[in-house]
Amino acid sequence: MAPIVTPVQTHADVPSKTTVAIIGGGIVGLSAALTLAERGVPVVVFEKGRVVGEQSSRNLGWIRKTNRSPQDAPLAIEADKLWTGMAQRTGSNVGYQQPGIMFLSQTEEELAANRKWLDAVKDLNIDSRLLSPEDVDRMVPGGSRRWRGGLYTASDGYAEPTLAASAIASAAIDKGAIIVENCAVRTLSTFGGKVRGVITERGEIACEQVILAGGLWSRKFLGNLKISLPTLPIIGSVLRTAPMEGPTDIAVAGPDFSFRKRKDGGFTITQRAAMSAPLVLDHARIGLKYLPTLRANWHNLRLSLGRDVLSDYSLARKWKGSDISPFERTRTMDPVANPRLIEEAMDNLTAAWPAFKSAEITETWAGTIDVTPDSLPVMGAVPNWDGLTLATGYSGHGFGTGPAAGQLAADLATGAKPLVDPAPYDIRRFD
Ligand SMILES: Cc1cc2nc3c(=O)[nH]c(=O)nc-3n(C[C@H](O)[C@H](O)[C@H](O)COP(=O)(O)OP(=O)(O)OC[C@H]3O[C@@H](n4cnc5c(N)ncnc54)[C@H](O)[C@@H]3O)c2cc1C
Repeated sequence: MAPIVTPVQTHADVPSKTTVAIIGGGIVGLSAALTLAERGVPVVVFEKGRVVGEQSSRNLGWIRKTNRSPQDAPLAIEADKLWTGMAQRTGSNVGYQQPGIMFLSQTEEELAANRKWLDAVKDLNIDSRLLSPEDVDRMVPGGSRRWRGGLYTASDGYAEPTLAASAIASAAIDKGAIIVENCAVRTLSTFGGKVRGVITERGEIACEQVILAGGLWSRKFLGNLKISLPTLPIIGSVLRTAPMEGPTDIAVAGPDFSFRKRKDGGFTITQRAAMSAPLVLDHARIGLKYLPTLRANWHNLRLSLGRDVLSDYSLARKWKGSDISPFERTRTMDPVANPRLIEEAMDNLTAAWPAFKSAEITETWAGTIDVTPDSLPVMGAVPNWDGLTLATGYSGHGFGTGPAAGQLAADLATGAKPLVDPAPYDIRRFD
């Protein structure tokens, strides 16, 4: 089951034209819409299902710079500033807090990796620091294991995924954005090598610019246009507990568990070392691009073969604007949580912090993540596609950067000064 998000009063009617059309009502598309509406730019968001129905409501809510690729850290630093002002900007409490994020280390190798990361980001003035075993015991009391140390960033934190993106959507609507649900964009309309509109299931809408923020569907959308975007799906399984006393408000990442306190007093928990990897045809098509990542993370993937291959195979790869598209066939991707991973998450966590033995599990869910070969998103223009801007492929860490990623996408689509240098996100790096 999907977590229940705050409802958004979206629009019933689709306008015949706009300036910027956004494909995808997740945190990235909605943040781009809010930015554009605040700047007075006419904008329409098209969502094939319901807004915030896929990754943006199903994630853990972590907002972190810690252990982020140094190339992606400037965006995360800008995102912190946006999260800090989010309650005021949206008029809603999105549960944003900065109690810090801690990554625990159990081996010398992991400590060395922490030192290496600190060295790589030293020019960015991030407040991350190494922890001794005693620091860990003091900051997260009640543990039953002795850790070698940890990496901690006090300015990291979290927000509530069930509140945040819908608050952004409602604020965007208040500022003049139009958001339409149950309206898939099938393809683009072009003239003279330039995008001039989107073809939706409810007809064509003229526009000057399109931002594609379609999460895990972007690969399929672009494939139909013969644009190659390498992303593969992996599924994370998550649980939440009833309100309880916990050891700390800090979000803690262990080797095979993670936990963070929720606004409702419970905890959001996952088996950090394992994700389900449904085998789909794309593994055969683009799997080679992932070899270095696969070698490093092979033991973390639980491969599954069966239903996913068949349902993937049954979806069209090529269609016209007059055809029903794959986006209408799956309104909301709603994978089932893997019970083994839920059990492992609780077992591993209670072995490390016995206080969680009394935790009552009140909900479990899963979400499908779109992962690129280098785990960096793809943002910016597509060669030979004037008027199309990509904002996709956030690889399991785009909730935290979402507000900044949306702003950057809005900047790039309208020719404004970009929030950060978009060079690391260029699609041509995969050529
Ligand atoms: C289990 C899990 C844990 C995670 N934990 C974290 C975390 O702690 N911190 C963090 O930073 N990130 C985390 N993430 C990742 C984060 O959730 C995503 O990176 C982020 O939400 C991506 O936002 P998005 O807007 O790109 O995509 P999405 O939220 O997936 O939104 C894309 C939307 O586009 C719509 N769409 C697609 N194609 C079309 C079309 N043709 N027409 C109309 N609509 C379309 C889809 O229906 C969907 O609603 C996690 C993800 C999962 C699943």
